[in-house]
Amino acid sequence: MTAVPHITLNNGQSIPQLGFGVFQIEPKDTVEAVSTALRTGYRHIDTAEMYGNEKEVGEAVAKSGLDRADVFVTSKLDNPAHRPDDARRAFDESLEALGFDYLDLFLIHWPLPTKYDGDFVSTWRTLEEFYRSGRARSIGVSNFQPHHLRRLHEETEVPPAVNQIEIHPYLTQDDVRGFCTEHQMAVEAWSPIGQGRVLDDPVIGSIAKRVDKTPAQVVLRWHIERGDIVFPKSITPSRIKENFDIFDFELSGGDVAEISALNKNERTGPDPDKFDRV
Ligand code: NAD
Repeated sequence: MTAVPHITLNNGQSIPQLGFGVFQIEPKDTVEAVSTALRTGYRHIDTAEMYGNEKEVGEAVAKSGLDRADVFVTSKLDNPAHRPDDARRAFDESLEALGFDYLDLFLIHWPLPTKYDGDFVSTWRTLEEFYRSGRARSIGVSNFQPHHLRRLHEETEVPPAVNQIEIHPYLTQDDVRGFCTEHQMAVEAWSPIGQGRVLDDPVIGSIAKRVDKTPAQVVLRWHIERGDIVFPKSITPSRIKENFDIFDFELSGGDVAEISALNKNERTGPDPDKFDRV
């Protein structure tokens, strides 16, 4: 099995660059899917309170026989819980559902700039408490735009270790990625294959044919070579394996540039400046 590269976060913690995402996996299918992923070699699972499957993720990790320390698990604060007391309660509940005494990474799921009087800063300060107590080994944000990140930078003490944002060949997010790199924040790419939408693209298809890999493998490899962290989702065992099998080939600089040039600023998910569902 080829080793998955690790990325060192700005606090010295290490994260596997490839993980397994469980958004839209039904709780009844989650133990099986995560168990398949762990058997395949994935050691990084991305869940969230919003996904409703933290309990089953925890069960699969426990059942795997792996040491807790050998699996990197991320969860996220749900939108209704941004007020500090709610965030403290929600964090306790995430740990309890997972059956863990710490999370490797805990994120604010959405900035919700039009809710809570635009105050995601006190929410962030509450995550700083989790970090200082050691119950969150790293803390970060998701769906934050540069202007949101700038506020955290200016008004708080612990810089986010990661920003998890939608990125795929049709949404390359060069501005947000550039800001994160400049401020030593790792970038995590959600919906890395655009929920399947980018896989029929002829440019990706022709590169896949030439390197003798599938379109999904080419797109995941493109993320890896750009330095981003990815966690594709699937419940199909053959795809779970296919998405892991991306470390025995490389793309040329020209291939990477050609895929990046497919950008059309096309989101599959909501605009973080407008999203307000709590
Ligand atoms: P994705 O880009 O990983 O696509 C998943 C879909 O693509 C699957 O449902 C399946 O239909 C298809 N697929 C997977 N592997 C395939 C393959 N090899 N060949 C063909 N089709 C394949 O989309 P996603 O699930 O939205 O994103 C991945 C993870 O990112 C999520 O599970 C979650 O952990 C995270 N995420 C985070 C946020 C956020 O707001 N922070 C939002 C969405 C997703």
